[in-house]
Amino acid sequence: SSGKVLQGPDVQNFETRLANISEMKSAIAVGSGTDALSIAMKALGLSNGGHVAVTSLSFVASASSIVNAGGVPIFLDIDHHYLSKTETVLDLLDKHPLEGIILVHLYGQMIDTEAICRKAKSKGVFVIEDAAQALGAKHKGKTPGTYSDAACYSFDPTKVVGAYGSGGGIVTNNEQIALRCQSLRYHGQSQ
Ligand SMILES: *Cc1c(COP(=O)(O)O)cnc(C)c1O
Repeated sequence: SSGKVLQGPDVQNFETRLANISEMKSAIAVGSGTDALSIAMKALGLSNGGHVAVTSLSFVASASSIVNAGGVPIFLDIDHHYLSKTETVLDLLDKHPLEGIILVHLYGQMIDTEAICRKAKSKGVFVIEDAAQALGAKHKGKTPGTYSDAACYSFDPTKVVGAYGSGGGIVTNNEQIALRCQSLRYHGQSQ
């Protein structure tokens, strides 16, 4: 009825609500959780063949989105909660030339991202949180995206909140990253 079938007021309303729920400044709606991860990596400047650390236990998209964005996944071992181990990630940051890290919060459980993000930032390595299974989750009162560059949600029908079809969202407190994601989701256009 508004005549807007793409990026219209309904999408804006959804983004405002997602930003509020996730306690982040900006939210960008995209086609899927997989798109959210790939677009976020491109927005953060992942280069062709760049190495990105990711967990070895997740839905396939945590790793395939890295390949979609032109990168190479470097797999991390997990702990007894099925999450990436903080020590393993910190250790890899010292030993391996990474461009980025994807921290995957599985089954609503969150990784403690603070120390990893601090060290990654000092080395110029980006951190994206794959929060496809963690909408509404908090660690020590903080939501996904608090310490990292961006967090990605999925609205696949099997997730915490399901769309009628596929859906995804990127949330961030960094305005530059938000603008780049907005542009990348629609062929370089901002409007
Ligand atoms: C579902 C899921 C994705 C991908 O989301 P889609 O919306 O299906 O593309 C990525 N990571 C994890 C951990 C997931 O569970």
